[in-house]
Amino acid sequence: MNTDITRASAAEIADALGRKEISAVEVTQAHLDRIAAVDGQVHAFLHVDADGALASARDIDERRAAGEELPVMAGVPIAVKDVMATKGIPTTCGSRILEGWVPPYDATLVTRLRAAGMPILGKTNMDEFAMGSSTEHSAYGPTRNPWDLERIPGGSGGGSSAAVAAFEAPWAIGTDTGGSIRQPAAVTGTVGTKPTYGGVSRYGLVALASSLDQAGPCSRTVLDAALLHSVIGGHDPLDSTSINAPAPPVVEAARRGDVKGMRIGVVKELGGEGYQAGVRTRFEESVQLLVDAGAEVVEVSCPSFDYALAAYYLILPSEASSNLAKFDAMRYGLRVLPEGVDDPSAEQVMAATRDAGFGDEVKRRIILGTYALSSGYYDAYYGQAQKVRTLISRDFEAAFAKADVLLSPTAPTTAFKLGEKLDDPMAMYLNDIATIPANLAGVPGMSLPSGLAEEDGLPTGVQILAPATEDARLYGVGAVLEKLLTDRWGGHLLAQAPDLTAKGA
Ligand code: GLN
Repeated sequence: MNTDITRASAAEIADALGRKEISAVEVTQAHLDRIAAVDGQVHAFLHVDADGALASARDIDERRAAGEELPVMAGVPIAVKDVMATKGIPTTCGSRILEGWVPPYDATLVTRLRAAGMPILGKTNMDEFAMGSSTEHSAYGPTRNPWDLERIPGGSGGGSSAAVAAFEAPWAIGTDTGGSIRQPAAVTGTVGTKPTYGGVSRYGLVALASSLDQAGPCSRTVLDAALLHSVIGGHDPLDSTSINAPAPPVVEAARRGDVKGMRIGVVKELGGEGYQAGVRTRFEESVQLLVDAGAEVVEVSCPSFDYALAAYYLILPSEASSNLAKFDAMRYGLRVLPEGVDDPSAEQVMAATRDAGFGDEVKRRIILGTYALSSGYYDAYYGQAQKVRTLISRDFEAAFAKADVLLSPTAPTTAFKLGEKLDDPMAMYLNDIATIPANLAGVPGMSLPSGLAEEDGLPTGVQILAPATEDARLYGVGAVLEKLLTDRWGGHLLAQAPDLTAKGA
């Protein structure tokens, strides 16, 4: 194993802990030291809970010393996107409106992390209420891509992916409503999975668009993603949309890894025009590697995917406008009194607070969603978008009749420069063109690093999609592809990322 524990995978750390070669306190402290050394540059974290993380690490060490049988991943620390409610740890969703809010309860997913004995290092930066593809919409300043600090780490979960790529955490929790786990994974050279909708509990996940939101793992290896997926997945009676079945056998699939005789569907509509040349080259190479390993390639067409972005940007704002109505200055966080009003009404306080507490992108979507849901326009916009959603699900059904998994580039480009797309919402929305269909249909998807683009030397990602509840297929194919690509690139891609502690980095 690597002598620097922060470079080890979560699975390797768990093995070392199990063999008592290292203590949970040492592992946690090493990551806290790394955060102290590099997070000034990366800004992956909004809040670091050093005391809490060390206390749970100490607890694990004591229980291990007492001979207690511990969960396999006990003592491996983790970072959590700031959209998950964490008892006693501030939760802001990257928004001013929740500044200072300390949840009185844990999200189910967080309860499971704690039960698995994972020290929580802190909360990661994100676009405000998970709206964005660059983490620049965070009210607390952007996160930077560890590959190039002048570039974005993807979004909305840029903090989680950057933390993992910068070795500040072995792994992290993200959420994916339209691509926010997969797109940041692609542009940071890491792995990310959006599970089947309902596969991971949404209880305590601050809702953006309830019919699309899904939490999942961010990691550096496919096996680590599977190990984390199996900890957080499975039925939760507190979430009425939770699938009433055990978590799928993702760890077995990741360990086995097999593609022989598998039919890999390449989606005609996800590629070609609008995709950077280097992204396309790396994607074609991944397809070829799978063919060489014994898979069969079929081309599939999903014509309704061309309308996915338009449908998503009606459905998401509609649900968001309703979900965000609860931030009314009365229940949580910020309260702003209107200026020059002696005896303000509740409405006036609410308006002043929402004006001051929400950023531009959030306001844009609330206005759009309210409009789309208004009685005169409901059928023309929201109703039509729901019909498109059905057509997209049918496209997936037809495609999965011909192929076991589908493959596409995850994001159309590599990481762009900070500020480049900030004033152009449409350009920003286009980053999720390949990831959004999976959210609309509820099917699972994974992104893994497919190498560096020739023209800019930045990471690219390949996306694997599977039918609903068949999450294990992502890991079976992902493990094989990861091995082939690791051989192709002479080791983990992140070994080629710049050293953030070097002078002048
Ligand atoms: N970038 C997409 C959006 O802005 C996806 C966000 C997400 O998955 N949370 O809505």
